[in-house]
Amino acid sequence: MLIFEKGQEGRMMTILPECDVPVSLPEEGSLRKKSMHLPQVSENDISRHYTEIAKKAYGVNDGFYPLGSCTMKYNPKINEDTAALPGFKQIHPLQPEHTVQGCMEVLKTAEQYLCEITGMSRMTFQPAAGAHGEFTGLLLIKAYHESRGDNKRTKIIVPDSAHGTNPASATMVGYSVISIPSAEDGGVDLEELKKAVGEDTAGLMLTNPNTLGLFDRNILEITKIVHEAGGLNYYDGANLNAVMGMIRPGDMGFDVVHLNLHKTFSTPHGGGGPGSGPVGCKDLLAEFLPGSMVEEEEGYVFKHPAHTIGQVKSFYGNFLIVVRAMTYLFMLGKEGVPEASKHAVLNANYMMAQLKDVYDMAYQGPCMHEFVMSLARLKKETGVSAMDIAKGLLDYGIHPPTMYFPLIVPEALMAEPTETESKETLDKVIAVLRSLHETAMTNPETLHQAPIHTPVTRLDEVRAARNPKLKHEF
Ligand SMILES: *Cc1c(COP(=O)(O)O)cnc(C)c1O
Repeated sequence: MLIFEKGQEGRMMTILPECDVPVSLPEEGSLRKKSMHLPQVSENDISRHYTEIAKKAYGVNDGFYPLGSCTMKYNPKINEDTAALPGFKQIHPLQPEHTVQGCMEVLKTAEQYLCEITGMSRMTFQPAAGAHGEFTGLLLIKAYHESRGDNKRTKIIVPDSAHGTNPASATMVGYSVISIPSAEDGGVDLEELKKAVGEDTAGLMLTNPNTLGLFDRNILEITKIVHEAGGLNYYDGANLNAVMGMIRPGDMGFDVVHLNLHKTFSTPHGGGGPGSGPVGCKDLLAEFLPGSMVEEEEGYVFKHPAHTIGQVKSFYGNFLIVVRAMTYLFMLGKEGVPEASKHAVLNANYMMAQLKDVYDMAYQGPCMHEFVMSLARLKKETGVSAMDIAKGLLDYGIHPPTMYFPLIVPEALMAEPTETESKETLDKVIAVLRSLHETAMTNPETLHQAPIHTPVTRLDEVRAARNPKLKHEF
């Protein structure tokens, strides 16, 4: 039931005192003719309404959330405490620098720590999300080539396993995209890469481990091929969860990288809320970085890099997300960071090993922080699709893995358990997935009906996409 359908004519809550200044109305012509459709409810009604909605939503605080390529890890509550400290929260971006030295120190420290983790020289916190970071990083690459008068470099090479944002960002920057097919083992096909590079190569975008959960062992050769052709290497570090504190993009031959603080560094995702996609780069790109960088002189000052590409967001990005990420890093410490990665990889491999006798894995052998199942054979034999299994999980209060991605795997389910889940949780989910497989073999019809215990049962997805009902008819 919508809030508009609740309450009674004339019911209201009083939150504002009587107006004690003269009322000044807009001109006659600009006044609305009909009264607004505002809900007429008491404070109690509205409080219950939102509590009811909140109970229907599902998040990491409710249960297992293995959404691959998303790193839905537990977000420690202490992050929220530090982000709520008045010295961080009750500030204004136009305040004089000498009054916000502490906040500037947070930005500087975050830059130092995350540069250490990625093997980069400088980092900006302006971008508000991963895709925004990609856009920013590619602008740096473009500025670099242009500054050298090298204007024929118009192409970005992206493997076909890439996250969809990669080709989209390259296109937004004005590059054309060359998609290269993956090799048999899921990695970059070196021969295809050699064929693709040339005088028109601006750069390569890669995530390693890739979206199949595989670490590309040829990485040094890959980045070398691109460098030798005069291009630069962009590392999509949205999911650094498998490698943080273990290996560094900078050492793998990458020149520029973005991170998703709202994935790997434990700040909440989505819900329309703020994210943070900082971009780090090596010295050759630092002069092009956007916005104001924190420099240490007598105290901290903000300075524009010499040949900055300009602002990509207002002021300094989503600062409180950086505070949360720093809290997380301080809590983990130098030993804790690689430890978290090891556990993320262990958890994914454990789940994969416990499932591979019933579900086909898209690629064999050890995975990194996530693994991809292909339900193509199951669908052929029983009619039960990846979608049906995903819907079946909902009836057990488990969020499904990412579905139908990466695009190169048919009937894909891509699971990323993260390091913050216990063995008991993993065992429970493994048991549920095995029993859903059993149901698929014996009684596939029930899975076509799933879910039946959720607030909303099976949706007509085609109708929802083609004929969306987005407004309330009064
Ligand atoms: C999530 C993700 C992105 C995009 O990040 P947003 O913050 O959603 O824009 C890019 N690349 C990869 C590999 C990702 O997993």
